[in-house]
Amino acid sequence: MNGARVEFRGLRRRFGATVALDNLNLTVEPGELIALLGPSGCGKTTALRCLAGFEHPDEGQVLVDDKDVTRVPANRRDAGMVFQSYSLFPNLNVRDNISFGMRVRKVPAARRHERAQELLELIGLPHIGGRYPHQLSGGQQQRVALARAIALEPRVLLLDEPLSALDAKVRVTLREEIRRLQLSLGITTIFVTHDQEEALSMADRVAVLRDGHLEQVADPATLYDRPATPFVAEFVGTMNHLPGTVVGDRVEVLGQSLPIDGPAPSAERVEVLVRPETVLVTPESDGGALVMVSSFRGSTARLRVQLADGTEALADVPGHDALRLAPGTKVRVSLVERPVLVAPGTETGDVR
Ligand code: ATP
Repeated sequence: MNGARVEFRGLRRRFGATVALDNLNLTVEPGELIALLGPSGCGKTTALRCLAGFEHPDEGQVLVDDKDVTRVPANRRDAGMVFQSYSLFPNLNVRDNISFGMRVRKVPAARRHERAQELLELIGLPHIGGRYPHQLSGGQQQRVALARAIALEPRVLLLDEPLSALDAKVRVTLREEIRRLQLSLGITTIFVTHDQEEALSMADRVAVLRDGHLEQVADPATLYDRPATPFVAEFVGTMNHLPGTVVGDRVEVLGQSLPIDGPAPSAERVEVLVRPETVLVTPESDGGALVMVSSFRGSTARLRVQLADGTEALADVPGHDALRLAPGTKVRVSLVERPVLVAPGTETGDVR
């Protein structure tokens, strides 16, 4: 395993009145791919730049393998970086772009060429060494940027929204390629994204940032199934908000009594957060609920259902059920799993 251990310890960074980082604490284990996920402005890029050395925190430390590197200049840190916009040098061909860092470090020309060719093969583009960036597609440019970032075998790889400018299909292919490469190299990788699907599909663990601090860090399944806060529940995946009532250690919702995970809120009226795939919809003439909209998606269909009390819920049903659950169908709605989260909240249900 070649990756370093990275630690953000109590990082704070202000820009005038804006607090970009507010006591960020996070440890990334050697060889791990961690995604920093959060809405625009939550501090993802600032955290990454503090690790790269392009930004300095007002307080706190960045540690790499337990060594404090907070004040070490960027060019002396052992990190490769790929940005959203293609940052290749336009006047250099692909081989020279990839070799750039090696040239700065005075690696002999023959070795540079050999290594560049090795990397071109690694990214699946062995024949483009002589081309210039403007002769490449966006996906190819990002592959080359990745090759350049790992040319010097850094122990940390920093990726700042590297896929955001690409079209959907290339994005999904490159997700897999980056992950495969990262696993085979064992390089510790921090991946900044605001795309939850990207984060969940690629990362060992996802760190959700909010207003400059860590809201939750967990593996993708735990984050999805057991979000620690309503903010995380909201940000990761689609969530229904249904009105419920707490009775003892259970919650009553949609006429059912379900167990609550963790301590029950002290409020009696609560917001019950449930995923669309745990909402069961069955045709029933006196079911009290009505299908409003149906969006067919192939293997599933997403229904928007109006409940008896006027609130709405989303339900994901098998695609082959879409016909018998067409808009206008009267239905019964129930939950097949305990809620993801029960939070003190408003009395009206909503879908967000
Ligand atoms: P995005 O997804 O939009 O890139 P982000 O989560 O990466 O957002 P940051 O770029 O880290 O967020 O910015 C956090 C906050 O700090 C934002 O409010 C931003 O406007 C502010 N900020 C970042 N860099 C600077 C700077 N150099 N000068 C002033 N404000 C800055």
